[in-house]
Amino acid sequence: MPEETKNPAESSGGIPLFKIGGIQIRLDYSWFIIFALILWSLSAGYFPRVFPGRSAQLYWAAGAVATFFFFFSIIAHELAHSFMAIRSGIKISEIRLFIFGGVARISEDARSPQEELKIALVGPLSSFALALVFWLTGTLVFTDQTIGTAIFRYLTFINLALGIFNLVPGFPLDGGRVLRAIWWWKTGSLTQATKVASDIGKWFAVALILLGALQIFAGALIGGLWLIFIGMFLRGIAEGGYQDLVMRQALQGVQVQEVSVKKVVSVSPDLTLEDLANRYFLRFGYKGFPVIADGRVLGLVTLKNLRDISEKERAETVVQDVMIPVGDDIRVAPEDSLTDAFKKMNLHQLDHLVVMEGGLMAGLITKTGLFRYMEIKRILND
Ligand SMILES: [Zn+2]
Repeated sequence: MPEETKNPAESSGGIPLFKIGGIQIRLDYSWFIIFALILWSLSAGYFPRVFPGRSAQLYWAAGAVATFFFFFSIIAHELAHSFMAIRSGIKISEIRLFIFGGVARISEDARSPQEELKIALVGPLSSFALALVFWLTGTLVFTDQTIGTAIFRYLTFINLALGIFNLVPGFPLDGGRVLRAIWWWKTGSLTQATKVASDIGKWFAVALILLGALQIFAGALIGGLWLIFIGMFLRGIAEGGYQDLVMRQALQGVQVQEVSVKKVVSVSPDLTLEDLANRYFLRFGYKGFPVIADGRVLGLVTLKNLRDISEKERAETVVQDVMIPVGDDIRVAPEDSLTDAFKKMNLHQLDHLVVMEGGLMAGLITKTGLFRYMEIKRILND
């Protein structure tokens, strides 16, 4: 959708690479370290060891080819998840390639254990399929021992490793999703299933961190740091994923109008950004305002929209030039469920949504407001 690519709130760090089937592939900055590490370890370590006696140029060229296909393998793995999710009617807005792999930004949970199982399994299966393709290419095309054999042997190995690593039954790894699906199937409780898979995921992450520390003591600094890095990353997601689910469940069945703020401070489209910053953001302490002219909602302006505009430009730019124009992505109806509103916020990376009824503004909901609501509900129910 063209509106989505223009939406300034969408771009949130990382480098957008390309779009495939409506999914934005985004490269996290950490990937430059990964590229360098893989390229270096292949060109200066692996290739000279398995294929000795050649020029450094050949090793670095082979390293570049292998690194490229490694990167391609990870995208293929994530795309397999994403396309299976889309087939089940789940929206995917982007795939972000993180330190050791990718994370598909899935805006909601699968509706049934069977769907979850399919979405989870297709990832490792695609890695195993790629391993087979690379192995066949390596053995059939490069019949005599050339550097090509070494490249394809590495790609076969790395895809096998990727498939096996992802089958570890701890969330957020694919194996954790498989376990969650089966547990969910058996017990009927998605919350309990997620808790089990997250707990195993956290313990696995701790095990990786400890293993990394041991390696560092044994003198393998890079390998050890690598494991600690991955462990910390997995631990963060294992925790966040569970909290997200608890949140979504608490919001279920509650309507937007029950928590929306009715008295909303709005701004006019021809207000300069300088005035917006001083007279609205700083004065009211809110991070977003609806833009209204003659009683009609024109859009939403948030702190993020101002971020990239220099102080000098702010005096000459008006709200209308930077706001997110009103559209389905920033609008909810009073009777919409909070679960859907929360999904929408996550999908478009927004902290505010305008509540609209018959073309008029009926209120505003904020992510902070939803968190506060959750917190109060939790305390009251304790
Ligand atoms: Zn996966």
